[in-house]
Amino acid sequence: MPELPEVETSRRGIAPWVEKQRIERIIVRERRLRWPIPDLFEEKLTGQVVHKLRRRAKYLLFDTSNGTAILHLGMSGSVRIIDPDEPAGKHDHVDIHFSNGKALRFRDPRRFGSLLWTNDAAKHPLLRDLGPEPLEEEFDGLYLWRKARARRVAIKPFIMNAKIVVGVGNIYASECLFIAGIHPQRKAGRIAKVRMLELVKAIKTVLHRAIEAGGTTLRDFHGSDGEPGYFQQQLDVYGRAGESCRRCGNEISMRVLGQRSTFYCKRCQR
Ligand code: ZN
Repeated sequence: MPELPEVETSRRGIAPWVEKQRIERIIVRERRLRWPIPDLFEEKLTGQVVHKLRRRAKYLLFDTSNGTAILHLGMSGSVRIIDPDEPAGKHDHVDIHFSNGKALRFRDPRRFGSLLWTNDAAKHPLLRDLGPEPLEEEFDGLYLWRKARARRVAIKPFIMNAKIVVGVGNIYASECLFIAGIHPQRKAGRIAKVRMLELVKAIKTVLHRAIEAGGTTLRDFHGSDGEPGYFQQQLDVYGRAGESCRRCGNEISMRVLGQRSTFYCKRCQR
């Protein structure tokens, strides 16, 4: 599933092809996605110039003078830039043709993604209640520590809660907690300020590293047939149950926490 780093990589990959370009034509082949593509989508956006391609959490936002297109990649969605005459496959649900002669193609085999339109992105129900972006300055150790005061919830689901901070997915949550040396089940409200500073530093480091890893796939956003933008990187704990901890050699443990697989080292994380 695309996480924040993959979505950010997608944004960087396609932005040079869509920003400042006029939308000439929109072809929707399948409207029945996770949320149906609204009937007014083509009408609202055809003829508009994309001023800016932004990312908020895991959404890509195409800002125009007539509202914003919201793209969610869901579980299996991907976008790439194509020549408009390239034949569409079964899962290529939407093409957006631009004035530079290129098109953005949205493919989504499992159809958990969607494309929506809003005249006010900040107030849209999918976006309005989101917490801060993890890589922005406003997300710092003091913010996280204050938010955690008196909270009895375990730290792992706490940092995965999009109202607290967006974009810390299941894999990254396990990795960050390992780096910060914090046990995933520790109560959020019982973590000292200095350890929260370490945790926020770890979150930023892990996400930056993942985005940089994705940067090597940028060229694939144009003209490739593959699924662009998703990448493997070396993980310290996630998916390594029973293997030895890279730091202390102890066995990595796994347990289900908040219905999500959680990996950690009993010796390194307290
Ligand atoms: Zn260890």
